[in-house]
Amino acid sequence: MVSAPPAPPTFQTGFPIRPDRLVEAATPEDVREAVAYAGGRGLHVAAHASGHGLPGPVEGGVLIATRALDSVTVDPVRRTARIGAGASWGRVIEAAAPHGLAPLNGSSPSVGAVSYTLGGGLGILAREFGYAADHVRSLDVVTADGTARRVTPEREPELFWGLRGGGHRLGVVTGMEIALVAVERLYGGSIVFDGAWAAEVVRGYLAWTRTVPETLTSSLAALVYPALPQLPEELRGRYVISVRVAFTGSAEEGERLVAPLRAIGRSAPILSDLLREMPYTESHTIHSDPPFPHAYYGDSAVLGEPDAERTVQAFELAGPRAPMMTVVQLNHLGGALAARPEVENAVPYRDAGFLLRLLSPLDGTEVGAVRALYGEVGRVLEPAVLGRSLNFSFGGGDRTAGFHEAETAKRLAGLVSQYDPAGLFGGPYGA
Ligand SMILES: Cc1cc2nc3c(=O)[nH]c(=O)nc-3n(C[C@H](O)[C@H](O)[C@H](O)COP(=O)(O)OP(=O)(O)OC[C@H]3O[C@@H](n4cnc5c(N)ncnc54)[C@H](O)[C@@H]3O)c2cc1C
Repeated sequence: MVSAPPAPPTFQTGFPIRPDRLVEAATPEDVREAVAYAGGRGLHVAAHASGHGLPGPVEGGVLIATRALDSVTVDPVRRTARIGAGASWGRVIEAAAPHGLAPLNGSSPSVGAVSYTLGGGLGILAREFGYAADHVRSLDVVTADGTARRVTPEREPELFWGLRGGGHRLGVVTGMEIALVAVERLYGGSIVFDGAWAAEVVRGYLAWTRTVPETLTSSLAALVYPALPQLPEELRGRYVISVRVAFTGSAEEGERLVAPLRAIGRSAPILSDLLREMPYTESHTIHSDPPFPHAYYGDSAVLGEPDAERTVQAFELAGPRAPMMTVVQLNHLGGALAARPEVENAVPYRDAGFLLRLLSPLDGTEVGAVRALYGEVGRVLEPAVLGRSLNFSFGGGDRTAGFHEAETAKRLAGLVSQYDPAGLFGGPYGA
């Protein structure tokens, strides 16, 4: 079972993975054996599904690749799915759709469902249904002592609390059971404006978010498209800013709700308007995240109520005049994200209004220069910043502070010292 590397393929190619031992787990028992092997030798352990979220270099230790644990079983009567640690959201969407059901997946179908959920999981229907972590029924996890545990609200309540939103440092999850939602179709897509009018679009978007119901989830994204031949000619090298929408109500009501967005087009030219009714299986087209592996750095700021002019300034700093290409995204939070789930969990910052995300390709760009830019953006938004988002910290390495409020971070640190006193999984996140 234990073999020498090469490392498995990763979506994130910007940071090296050089484990001493690679375990390609074919069963949950392989995971248990690998953790026991590492624990017995004091080696650190990392899990790897698709490699979208690698938080930093993985040097030495044991890497457990879970990609073969990709089973998905839907129970249409209980409206649940049991998902293996290596399954992507795309597989879960496909398995749930024939039953008129959907998971609370995010923008990209290739992201791993388990790791996304352990980090909270901010989905395309988030304002209506809350975080993915709020819909977990049970988790199968191998803790540092090499014990395989079925974790439920009744059996291990504190671990059940921490695994949902507390991140990836409590053990290796081999599978989970989640509740699905009865969604077959939605109204949504994107509306793309000329970035030269980004300030107007940011102001208009922020004002619009105050008027929408919680059945509508949206985000704003700005970027300068690289001058790549694969892109349509009119987009190459062009600065654009788009609003992405997902609404589970009728198409008619959706059209009415987006009318003020389209009205922004009276001052900011609209380049494309792809809002439409679609089956849920096409929901990945709303964001059209790049499907190919690449190198990137990313970080985020969870915000309370940001000032509109400061938000405009943040978009400007990361816009065409930025020293490196940077995608800026602003997710509208609130709605069900602010509600406490039936069984409390470690998902932080429930009162946040928005999440600002920055992502820069690392094609020869120095990480230090990227961090300097992000620091500037952070300072502009400072009065509204509550913390950072674990799921949107890409390549942050040792930057693990601010993912949870101090109280939650302390409670999670208590769990780490109970279940992983030797810090096999990296020890607790900072407060
Ligand atoms: C293009 C793109 C789109 C995204 N969209 C969203 C979105 O809409 N909403 C959102 O919330 N997030 C989103 N994310 C972030 C994503 O949810 C996280 O990066 C997540 O950790 C990726 O999981 P993975 O399995 O795909 O990646 P991996 O890199 O394989 O895993 C990430 C980390 O999770 C841990 N881990 C993996 N498997 C396990 C396991 N079985 N048990 C314990 N720990 C484990 C490891 O520490 C690993 O380093 C996106 C990321 C990308 C790159």
